[in-house]
Amino acid sequence: MTRGKNGTEPARTRQPRGRTVDPTALAEVHALIGGEARRDLLIEYLHGLQDRFGALHARHLTALAEAMRLPQAEVFEVASFYHHFDIVKEGEGAPAPLTLRVCDGVACMLAGAEDLLARLNGLFDPGRVRVVRAPCIGRCAEAPAALVGRRAVAPATPELLAQAIAAPQVPAEAVGATGFDAYRAGGGYRLLEAVRQGRLAVERVIEELAAAGLRGLGGAGFPAARKWQIVRSFPSPRLMTINADEGEPGTFKDRVLLERDPHRLLEGALIAAAAVEATGVYLYLRDEYADLHAVMAREIAALEQAGLVGAGVIALRRGAGAYVCGEESAMLNSIEGRRGLPRHRPPYIAETGLFGRPTLNHNVETLFLIRDIVEKGGARFAGQGLNGATGLRSFSVSGRVNSPGLKSAPAGITLNELIAEHCGGMAPGHKLAGYLPGGASGGMLPARLADLPLDFGRLEPQGCFIGSHAIVVFSQKDDPVAIALNLMRFFAHESCGQCTPCRVGTEKLVQMLEQRRFDAGLIADLDHVMRQGSICGLGQAAPNPVTCLIRYFPEALA
Ligand code: SF4
Repeated sequence: MTRGKNGTEPARTRQPRGRTVDPTALAEVHALIGGEARRDLLIEYLHGLQDRFGALHARHLTALAEAMRLPQAEVFEVASFYHHFDIVKEGEGAPAPLTLRVCDGVACMLAGAEDLLARLNGLFDPGRVRVVRAPCIGRCAEAPAALVGRRAVAPATPELLAQAIAAPQVPAEAVGATGFDAYRAGGGYRLLEAVRQGRLAVERVIEELAAAGLRGLGGAGFPAARKWQIVRSFPSPRLMTINADEGEPGTFKDRVLLERDPHRLLEGALIAAAAVEATGVYLYLRDEYADLHAVMAREIAALEQAGLVGAGVIALRRGAGAYVCGEESAMLNSIEGRRGLPRHRPPYIAETGLFGRPTLNHNVETLFLIRDIVEKGGARFAGQGLNGATGLRSFSVSGRVNSPGLKSAPAGITLNELIAEHCGGMAPGHKLAGYLPGGASGGMLPARLADLPLDFGRLEPQGCFIGSHAIVVFSQKDDPVAIALNLMRFFAHESCGQCTPCRVGTEKLVQMLEQRRFDAGLIADLDHVMRQGSICGLGQAAPNPVTCLIRYFPEALA
């Protein structure tokens, strides 16, 4: 297929088959699209329709297929893949105009999400408000949390939720971010200009990143400097993506960093884009962060207005509620307007990525650190680590500590040090019983292993990993089986279903936990098959909560 401007695909020329197109719906769809339809914007169009009409009505999906010259099945398939889209079939009633999503992620569970759900039962008019459960919405430090429409409420109480229901609009200035002028006044974008003007060689920037030991901080930990070199080794044109889809339960670091200083991310991204000569940068932001979406759109516009980036070079894309899109190749599919299915590898995205081009993908925190590292020196950054680790990390800490939140701490710090030095100790009445070192995926460790260095490669001998540095602390008052069940339900809900071991294995493990059937042999078999037979990290890591439960919390199994 011939590719259009910026490598995007033009809509296909096939006629849609099936339902008759409603002319009014078609006119509404054309008004939304506002010009020639772009295949890669399918998910953005779906958002536009849902925002405008409260749900995705079958008449609009049919009209959208017609306007985009796509098979209807393809449009329905994409719409039904993402949890945040509500499809209303012909003859069906629309959902209530307002959706209240109560987070039942692990941190919210510890903070009483089930009690909150029980208290909400029958409280609001079901004709006006629909109450549903939602996976982690990234407000773990203020748990329990909820979304009223797209407005975040944390901590959530029935009273605060009632207030938000009365005024569900996302406040325009909800986030006190450093704006463009303030960032520029503080020396912002000078480094980018130096790179662009050749006063600072790209090779020198890469050397500093290597000296810093900077690694991909979305969870994989791949050395950033090496990644840039690999992408540069493939022929241009190249593209860049920023993964701001942090959906790992317990993780909220990217949100907080962006809320504080969005231009630090944008400058890091533009330096990286310059280094690999990327012609376009796609920022994929999770749908749960509506206030941030407004901030990023505004600040990108400010950058364009200041002439630091061409119009449309940075494209802001909105996720639609699918955890698996945090996996980089699934995210690329989503940016292309498709279902967020992880791709088989090889080829890796550095070679064949977005729209088939070599693609550099980074997490928010990784890019956020670039300016500081280059300005202050990679060696200095590296020296801030502890216990043989390099650099500083952002730990999302939630659960039973006195002061949860985002903690900037040395890589390699131990949990005991993190709690004592950065979190004000354990919450009153709680004694450390265990913790998740890396969100839902990274396994569970007992209190006796709270002196391990929290860093890449240091927890693997214990069957765990640090991942996105999401630390969820639990106490003697919490049930490890209930925690493992919460995590397994999350994986079963979020599995894209592409691989049988992941799809069936997650469901099977949920059933076993629900029945309190701790068959170690069967669990070991499932663990083996899921690790070996799953395409992506979701299926490979999903057994971790259960294997850790068996290994470290035998007293909870009685
Ligand atoms: Fe989908 Fe699970 Fe396979 Fe990943 S491992 S591709 S989430 S089925």
